Parts: sequence; structure tokens; C-alpha cells
Amino acid sequence: KVLDNDITKVVEADRAHVWHHLIQHAPWTGPDPKADPRIIVEGRGMRVWDQKGKEHIDAVSGGVWTVNVGYGRERIANAVRDQLIQLPYFAGSTGSIPGALFSEKLISKMPGMSRVYYTNSGSEANEKAFKMVRQIAHKRYGGKKHKILYRDRDYHGTTITTLSAGGQSERGAQYGPYTPGFVSVPHCLEYRAQWDLSGEEYGLAAANAIEEVILREGPDTVGAICLEPVTAGGGVIVPPEGYWPRVQEICRKYDILLHIDEVVCGLGRTGTWFGYQHYGIEPDFVTMAKGVASGYAAIACCVTNEKVFELFRDDMTDPMNYFRDISTFGGCTAGPAAALENMAIIEEENLLDNTVAMGEYMLDQLKALQDKHEVIGQVRGKGLFLGAELVSDRSTKEPVDEKLAQAVVGDCNAQGVIIGVTNRSIPGFNNTLCYSPALIATKDDIDQIVEATDKALTKVFG
Ligand code: PLP
Repeated sequence: KVLDNDITKVVEADRAHVWHHLIQHAPWTGPDPKADPRIIVEGRGMRVWDQKGKEHIDAVSGGVWTVNVGYGRERIANAVRDQLIQLPYFAGSTGSIPGALFSEKLISKMPGMSRVYYTNSGSEANEKAFKMVRQIAHKRYGGKKHKILYRDRDYHGTTITTLSAGGQSERGAQYGPYTPGFVSVPHCLEYRAQWDLSGEEYGLAAANAIEEVILREGPDTVGAICLEPVTAGGGVIVPPEGYWPRVQEICRKYDILLHIDEVVCGLGRTGTWFGYQHYGIEPDFVTMAKGVASGYAAIACCVTNEKVFELFRDDMTDPMNYFRDISTFGGCTAGPAAALENMAIIEEENLLDNTVAMGEYMLDQLKALQDKHEVIGQVRGKGLFLGAELVSDRSTKEPVDEKLAQAVVGDCNAQGVIIGVTNRSIPGFNNTLCYSPALIATKDDIDQIVEATDKALTKVFG
């Protein structure tokens, strides 16, 4: 059994053969390794244990905003097990019991939406939406209305095409040439203002900047805009009031489809089922992945409204009319089986309410830290999705050296608290500490996370 393995052998196998995601391997590979790779062996609730048996409180839900309901959920494991014995797989051109039941449950939380297209990852879900937009452009507009707008600092995935829709340069650099037809619009981080305005007026200006891009490109060439409701890796950015209604208005004015990327925010992270639901907007596409089954199975979805779906089903005489797309593992039954239980847990344990309450508590605690530590320039976020931006000077907002931000993360780790930091995507802006504990977090958990950050900030910055 995996759990009975000699952990030394596991570490050596990892060192010799595993190519980890998004990390430099030099410290633990090559002829003179300086460290061991970290291997997480077990998880329960908010906590995980590494290969040395050290306990960590996980303030980042599996590293990347994923394990929303926490570790060790036997009912999800049992549902997956039962489903795998009954039927593990049949291609997604046919239906399955969990696929049908989960789609119904999901749509019941998404008024205005109607269809679920199953995929494996957030990147793939976004790519499906892009393909639908492109196909609509060909079907209805002679291919012309094919451009897709994305926002600076947003991230929509790791494939070449989703990187082409990405506003984070480190992720994209050296992977070009990119897919044509993706156009960037300005971000809406008021703390790093591009307009001399604040609050709702800032939100309106940021949205109006989208209109300017549309007019520059030609509204008859723009098919869709893809946006994160709260930008995640790009700096935990909550758009100011006024932003979203104006974005919706602009989309309607120019007949542009609104695609909300809920890969991080979806399934409760911000205290509502979906991040866009804070703002009363009506998207055409909603993509989701991480929290859909909290990492217990690989499942992602591209959800559309009926208006989009109708465009693909209205003409049986045209052999090219339907969405000619397939995803082998999008037909796996373990995903929706796990996702059904995941949603049931969120409902039965009132985890949306807990996320709102604990999110407010954590925001207050982080603000108290800001009062104490000059290096925290701003604390921001929504629900249990929070960031603390570190600056070397509050008046100039000069970001701290990324090594110092990393040192804070490292010191928290040494204290047994796993926190994150925004990636190096935007030069000079990899300086926001990230917190996304599971939606089950308690005040005690949050106190432990904030206390560790307090100690780490004192150690690194004095
Ligand atoms: N969209 C957002 C907002 C993300 O943060 C991510 C991943 O972090 C993705 C899409 C890509 O998802 P995946 O890694 O499942 O392909």
C-alpha cells in the first residue's frame, strides 16, 4: 500500500523522477542536492503532515485554492469508490448518473445558466469557452467577431491558448508564439491606480477602459471578454463598486459574451456559490475547476446559458452546427460523484456562512497586523480569499524585494503554517501574501495563521 512505503525510498524516487509543477528543482536534484523535496503524506481537516511527520496548518487549501471542504472527507471518498465500482467511465457523448445529477444541482445554484460541459482542468474549461466563442463567430459573423478580451494580471490557464489570454508575463514568457486574437484590457487594482479616482468612480473608469479597447479594435471584431471575479494569482484583486454593472452594460451594448472565470472563486471561496453572484451580473459562460470537487477528483466545467447552447443546437441540417469538441476524461464519473458530495457538505455545514463570517474575521485580523507592520501596504480580499501586499515604503508603494516576501512564506512554513505569495508574473509585484484556508476554518485556525505571519514579518522586517 502507498501508505506503508518506506518514506526514504519515496523521497529518493521523487528526487530522481518527478518533475514538479511551477518550481525550480536545483535545491534537491543534481549531483549535490541541498534539500529534500517536500512530500505531503496525509491531510485531515485544515491540517497536513509532511514526510518528516511535521504538522502544518494549510492556509492555501492544497497550495492553489482547491481543497474547499478540507481533507479527510470520507463521504466524498466513499461516493467516488461506489461510483467507480458501478461505472468508472464512459465517453462524454453519453450521459452518466452523477454527471446528470451534479449538473442539475450545480445549475440550481446558478440562476440564468443552464448547461454544463465537463472537462478536466480550469485551463481546459476556459479553452472550451474560447472555442465556443470562435465557433459562434464563424457560424454567425463570418469569423469576424472572434477576438477575446482578457485583463492585465488575470490568469486563465497553462495551455498556449489560455496563456495567450493571460495577463501574467512570467507564466507566458518564452512560450510564444501565442494564439492570435486575444487582446488585453487594463486591470482594476485601485491600490496601484491608473486613474486619479477612487471607489465607484475608479471602478467605472476601469470598466470604461474596456470600452475604449473595444472601440479601438472594432466592436464587430470582439466576441467575448474573459475575467476573473476576484483576480487570484495576479494579486488578490477585488474590483471596486461600479465595475461589474458597467462591464455588463458594455457587453450588452456591443453584443459581447461575458465569460467569468470562476476557477478559483467557484464553489464558495468568496462566501457565495460563485464570485460573480456578489455583483448581480449575468454571465454567458462560467468556468470552474478547483473547488468543484475540492481536489478529491479531477473535474472542471464550462457552464453556459441557454442562449449560447441554443446557438449550437438550432440547425440539425448543418453537419457543422454542433460543438465539435471532446475531452476523454470529461466523461469520468468520479468527478461529478465527488462534486455532488462536495456541494452537499458545503450546504449541510453552512460553509458559505462560515466563509463570510471567518473571512470578515480574518480580514480584521490582517488589518490589525497592518497597523503593527509598516511593510503591509494593503490588505484586501473577499470571503476566505485574502491578500496582504508588502511594500518597502507606504507612500511610494514600492514593492518589497521578492526574496523578502519569499522569506516570510518560508518562515511561516518553518512555523508549520503554509501560506502563499503571488507569483512572479508581474515584474515587481510578486509581493502579495496569499491566504485561502478551507471554508471550514475556525477563529483558532485563523489566529494561528495570522500569528505565524506576525512572527515572520517581525523576523524578516523587524
Ligand atoms: N483560471 C484561474 C483563475 C486560475 O487561477 C487557474 C489556475 O490556477 C486556471 C484558470 C487554470 O486552471 P488549471 O490549473 O486547472 O488548468
